[in-house]
Order: sequence, then structure tokens, then C-alpha cells
Amino acid sequence: MLASFDVSGVRRTLSGALVLLAVASCSKTPVSPPSDTTKPAATAKRATPDGTAPVQAQARPAFLDLPERAVPGRVFIVAIDGANWEVFDPVMRAGLMPNLARLIQSGSRTTLESMDPTASAIVWTTIATGKKPKQHGVHGFVAQTDDGRTVPVSSTIRRVQALWNIAGEAGVSVGFLSWWVTWPAEPVRGFLCSDYTWPLRKDKDGFATGSVSRLDIPDRTYPPQLMQELDRFIKTEERLVPGELAALGLDALPRIEDYAVRDILLKDISVGNMAAYLLDKHKPSLAAVYFDGFDAYCHIFWPQYAAYLKARETDGAGGVARLPAQVQALGRVMDAHLTRVDLYLGGIMKQAAANDVVLVLSDHGYGDNPGLQPIQRTYKDWIQPPHWHTKRGILVAAGGPIRKGSEGVVASVLDVTPTVLALLGLPVGRDMDGKVLTDLLTPEFLNAHPVQTVETHDLKPRVARPAESAYDAGMKERLKALGYIEDEPGD
Ligand SMILES: [Zn+2]
Repeated sequence: MLASFDVSGVRRTLSGALVLLAVASCSKTPVSPPSDTTKPAATAKRATPDGTAPVQAQARPAFLDLPERAVPGRVFIVAIDGANWEVFDPVMRAGLMPNLARLIQSGSRTTLESMDPTASAIVWTTIATGKKPKQHGVHGFVAQTDDGRTVPVSSTIRRVQALWNIAGEAGVSVGFLSWWVTWPAEPVRGFLCSDYTWPLRKDKDGFATGSVSRLDIPDRTYPPQLMQELDRFIKTEERLVPGELAALGLDALPRIEDYAVRDILLKDISVGNMAAYLLDKHKPSLAAVYFDGFDAYCHIFWPQYAAYLKARETDGAGGVARLPAQVQALGRVMDAHLTRVDLYLGGIMKQAAANDVVLVLSDHGYGDNPGLQPIQRTYKDWIQPPHWHTKRGILVAAGGPIRKGSEGVVASVLDVTPTVLALLGLPVGRDMDGKVLTDLLTPEFLNAHPVQTVETHDLKPRVARPAESAYDAGMKERLKALGYIEDEPGD
């Protein structure tokens, strides 16, 4: 099967790939608004149903005017969807992720345990809140509106404070880029580039299928006017100029009918360049940038890339040379993509001073079917892919108070937020499901900054209901016209 890989093979599995990317949408629905309708600042701005101007419901949030709080060190998070040691170790051995290798040498590494289901929308929200879905309220890639329609998940269904809220309201400046479930962008102390900053095209199941030419939705960034400033960084297939494909190493990617396979890499390039620009310009105390290309490619090219990695590990260049030409080409594209992500990591490492911390982490791993139960994708159909997310993600921590050479620290996706708060000298919520990874920290740091706790960071109720815009309905029609989705009964 591997040997006979060709583009038509990819096309045959296309519907499979689309399904795989969709992962789970849980049948649980977001809660109805709490009876106390005091609107927290974070949800003051909602997209109007017709997708026009946002509603300015509240005055300027007070935390924006607090003096900047001094932190023990800045924290940089580089988030790589699907990253796993089974791939990243051989890629580092081949010398293709030199910055990550250097970071590990100066700090510690471990496996970051994921949770079930390993659906990115859920897990990245868990990572940013320290809470399980039961608390944070994001249960899948879609949410239901009050009248029972299904729309892609949005930041407004999150029931609890995320890192960007907690840190900002304590006077710590933040900068988040492309994190899952961040549209509409909430007011933050600093900047927030939502998951729709790059002009993401999503289908009705809430997963990405490429880019759109014009994305007319409000609140793609906070502050809103930042969107204009960032437009020059946005690369999409449509915006490519002649020769650029080859220069980016993209010309070897096979065309896949109806699937914007180049956009996957172009999105990461756009996000990486935006991050470099914004982090340098604003220097937030807590910065996070999310890359999803690796996971997206694994969903499509896993069998080929697994074969390529295995051939290189066992027989070196000679082993690779014996693979079919297209498998070699795809392997090089995957390698090049990881090297590019590593380059952006290197840029961020350069911005980190001696007392700052850099974290590299993933929501889950990827590999041959680890025997997980098939995940309920919609309310009616099930999938059982031959390769899938694993529960083993990665965590690398280095710099500042991070101990050197710790391996095997038991760490969960739930522990990221408590640990980041501790690194920033901020209290951890006792209602969080995770813990501070004290085994990663030096005794000196823990003595100087003992872990502090508060009962909760969620004293103010958040109004939890999906935000939607004309975009969703319009997109559904366009996807139908393109044959991506079929008419549903009662649709
Ligand atoms: Zn995935």
C-alpha cells in the first residue's frame, strides 16, 4: 500500500482525511446562560448574528489600565498540534530540528499526557484553563445554538477564565496567536490573534479545510484594528506569487482534489511570521503561538511519512532512496515543515532572556491506531481510522527556573495552566484539575516564589453561548455548492 502510493490514492482516502480532521463532536451542548447575567468584560463583545459590527456592550475593562505587573520571568509557549516523540526524536536525530534539540539540552523534556477524546478544540482549551471539559464547557468542534442549530465552537462558549484572562486581569501582558477556540477575540491586556486571524475555512463539522478569499467576520483579533496590520503576513494558496511554491518547498506536494493541502503549510508560515513580528514589537510577559500543520499533515500523509521515517532510521539515505519517489517527496515536505516550525521556535528562543521560560508542547501525539475507541463524529456516524491521535504529547521546558535534564516528570495537559501561573508568580485556582509541575522547577525558585493558590479565578460568571455570524451559514451554502457537504434532512 505504501509502495503504491499515488495522488489518486490520496484522493481515494480524501473523505477519510476530512473525517479524521473533524475528530469528535460531543453530543453535549453548551450550557444556557447563567441566571446572573452580569456580563464579564471578556464576553462583552459578541458578533451580531448578521456578521456585521460587534456589539460594544461595555466600557473599557479596568484591567487594561492596571500598571504592568513584574513577573519572575517571561513565559513563551510554542504549541505544536500532534507533536510526539516517536516522530520528533528521529527528526531531531536527522538534525532537522536543531533549535528544539538545543532547547531540550538546556532544559527538561517529558511526555505530556493527553485526555479522551483527543479532540484539539477540547484539549487546547483544557491546556489554556487547567480544567476538564466538564468545567470549561468546550466539548467538541461544534456547539449548538439555543434553537438547536450546529455552529463551529467559539470563545463565547467557554465557561471559565483562560490564561489570557487570568494573567491579563492580574496586570500581566499577554500575546496569543491562533489558539483554538479564541474567536471572537476577547479584550485582553496585550493582543490576541484568534483562530480566524488567518482566513480559515471551516466546514459544518467545525474543522479546517483551507482558506477563504475574504473573511468578513468581526473580532478576528484584539485589538480589532490589529487585523489590518497583520494582513501583509497572511499567505494563502490564492496569494502565492509565481516561484514562491518552489521556494517554500511546496511544489512537491501532490494536488488533492478539493483539499487545500498547501494552505496547511501556508497557515503555519503566516502564524510564525506574525508571531515573530508581534512578540518583538510588544514583548508580552506571557506569549503563546499555535501551529497546527503537523497534525493536519499527519491526518493525510501518516502512512507515507511513517514509512519514510522508518527507512531513514534503519537504512539512512539509502533506505529513503529505495522508497517510491512520491513517498520521498512527501517525506521531504513533512521534514521541511517541521524544520520551518523549528525555525520559528528558534526566533522565539532568541527573544527569551536568561530568566525567561520557553515551553514547547502538544495536545496529543500521532501514530498508528493506538486502539482507541472510535470517536463519535456526528450524532449518527462513527469512524475507526488506521492511524490517529495518541495520548502521548510532548513537553519541553527550558530557561529561568527550569531544572536541567529532568526526564520522565509525570505531566498532563491539565498541568500547563497551573505551571504557567506559578512561573509568572500568580496564584493557581484550587478548582483547577491540574497541578503545578514542581518537579520541573528549581528549589531556589520554589523558595523565592512558593506556589500560591486562590479558591477560583472564576468569580464572575461568563455568559456561555455560541457566537455565530453570517459566515457560518454562507459557508455552509458554499461548501454544499462545492460538494463538500450534503444536504441534511431538515437542513
Ligand atoms: Zn488531529
